[in-house]
Amino acid sequence: MWHYEPPLRDMRYVIEDVLGLPAQWARLPAFAELDADTAQQVLGEAAKFARDVLAPTNAGGDLEGCHWADGEVLTPKGFREAYRAFVDAGWPALACAPEHGGQGLPQVLNAALFEMLVAANHAWTMYPGLLHGAYECLHAHASPELKAAYLGKVVSGEWLATMCLTEAQAGSDLGLLKSRAEPQADGSFRLHGNKIFISGGEHDLTDNIVHLVLARLPDAPVGSKGISLFVAPKFLPDGSRNALRCDGIEKKMGIKGSATCVMSLEGATGWLVGEPNRGLAAMFAMMNSARLHVAMQGLAHAENAHQNALRYAQERLQSRAAVRPEGAPAASADPIVMHPALRRTLLRQRVLVEGARLVAYETAHSLDVSEQSPDAAERALAHDDVSLLTPVLKAFFTDNGFQIASDALQVFGGHGYIHDWGIEQCVRDSRIAMIYEGTNQIQAIDLLVRKVVPDGGLKFGALLDRLAAGLPPGGLHSPAAREAIAALREATLQTASAARADPELAWRVADDFLRAAGLVLIVQAWARAAEVSSRTEFAGDAFHRAKRDTAQHCFAYVLPELGHALRMVAAGREALAYLPASG
Ligand SMILES: Cc1cc2nc3c(=O)[nH]c(=O)nc-3n(C[C@H](O)[C@H](O)[C@H](O)COP(=O)(O)OP(=O)(O)OC[C@H]3O[C@@H](n4cnc5c(N)ncnc54)[C@H](O)[C@@H]3O)c2cc1C
Repeated sequence: MWHYEPPLRDMRYVIEDVLGLPAQWARLPAFAELDADTAQQVLGEAAKFARDVLAPTNAGGDLEGCHWADGEVLTPKGFREAYRAFVDAGWPALACAPEHGGQGLPQVLNAALFEMLVAANHAWTMYPGLLHGAYECLHAHASPELKAAYLGKVVSGEWLATMCLTEAQAGSDLGLLKSRAEPQADGSFRLHGNKIFISGGEHDLTDNIVHLVLARLPDAPVGSKGISLFVAPKFLPDGSRNALRCDGIEKKMGIKGSATCVMSLEGATGWLVGEPNRGLAAMFAMMNSARLHVAMQGLAHAENAHQNALRYAQERLQSRAAVRPEGAPAASADPIVMHPALRRTLLRQRVLVEGARLVAYETAHSLDVSEQSPDAAERALAHDDVSLLTPVLKAFFTDNGFQIASDALQVFGGHGYIHDWGIEQCVRDSRIAMIYEGTNQIQAIDLLVRKVVPDGGLKFGALLDRLAAGLPPGGLHSPAAREAIAALREATLQTASAARADPELAWRVADDFLRAAGLVLIVQAWARAAEVSSRTEFAGDAFHRAKRDTAQHCFAYVLPELGHALRMVAAGREALAYLPASG
């Protein structure tokens, strides 16, 4: 049956052996006191919480879902107790600054924490999932008074936060949103409008909920340049109920324990966060953090699905394998893991899961460098890298999360389609991550149209050069990885140049370009991991032998997918036909 075991050994391998992060932390004053053992202790405790407290609420929460009545929402059995334990242990504050009550630990530990939480129970993790983003947004943009009122409560997890962006007519294009904000004599605003799909818009986990709401001021310019950001709590500072309510919750495909709320703002009191009409920019502080968080959801589902599929494949007996290892006992049927088709599926999963962990933790470290390095040039470079990598990680990891979950279900055969094995929940839960926080198509456009093409591929090309420079000299797989990086660099220059003459080109090829970028990151990661695991000190260790074998599989079987993605980018130079209008 379904079981999730936090991959602590692999996390340690990435953090210590491959990335050497403890030595990097020593260079950043904010983390100079942190050593490898303390980091491992933190992750060990997080693993216990995820496995022993949270995972047992996952399947029940999926069956039960949330309950709505008269504007109130009850979460499934066990969710409240798990949230209380989470807050009491101080997990919400992990990567927040100590001056606001946080523990001031690196983003990479927060990323690892959330990877484990999502794998244990994605629906539950939706509630605290926006806390760090809300913290970043308020920390960067709120007035001192608003910070004093909300930051501490958010950091401690005493109050949960929401992101109220989407409206029925305004999804990917937030420039279409209509909610209004009327200024009041006391400096506050009255908010009117209707929001849909608001995760955690109402629930019973905390006494108060801090809503971050996008709305338009009177006479605001049309489109995305006329949107402002407001904070509107469920309960006002005087204890009275604010004029916003949850009109219902959606019945949906997955993450059923997460309340997806229809919210109406009926003259709710709110306060402006940041500059008037600059709300989207302020909200981006929250969305960027949230996008990396969603990338971790993709990784978490992939890890969870792979673990369960592998265990099942080792136990399920069907047919004799075509080739059996020497000395294998006589049997009429072998474990299905011995059949090459399943081995290929499982090894591909391992390439994408463990490679993604390396890429994700390295990006989380770049985020720390971008915020904490004493060197301004280093901060700026890390900031550019994170900005380019965020859409790649969000879309590539979540596409893979769903695909890997579906492939894992296939490993279970018909049993996978049955609820009790847990894998069908994983398929359903993982699907949403490709849609929210900006659909994966919007991520691809963000990467290619907004970030790569405008400077002719300069910054992205420089990032690729740094990836090539980071390959181990003389490494077994370094030449193949270098060739892969060069092929993407070439495609980048060609696409940026051709886009000048063909205004639709970058929009047509964005998805394939992003996939190629994701595959290059994975390939580069495995070239480095293979080299680490080839050290003589690791020669007899089964963990490192598995790493070398997985790297081998990456270069033999996954690298060719890059060729396909790049051929699709080239094919995209051909104009697309228009579909006839309906009727
Ligand atoms: C379970 C769940 C939880 C959510 N939580 C929140 C939340 O907490 N807060 C919040 O504000 N919102 C939330 N959302 C909303 C979510 O962010 C939106 O659904 C998402 O941004 C897409 O908007 P849409 O559904 O209106 O799709 P549309 O924008 O109508 O898109 C439809 C299709 O068109 C494509 N498309 C649209 N524009 C373009 C373009 N320019 N180029 C290429 N393709 C394009 C999209 O990729 C998609 O495939 C949630 C949604 C769900 C289902």
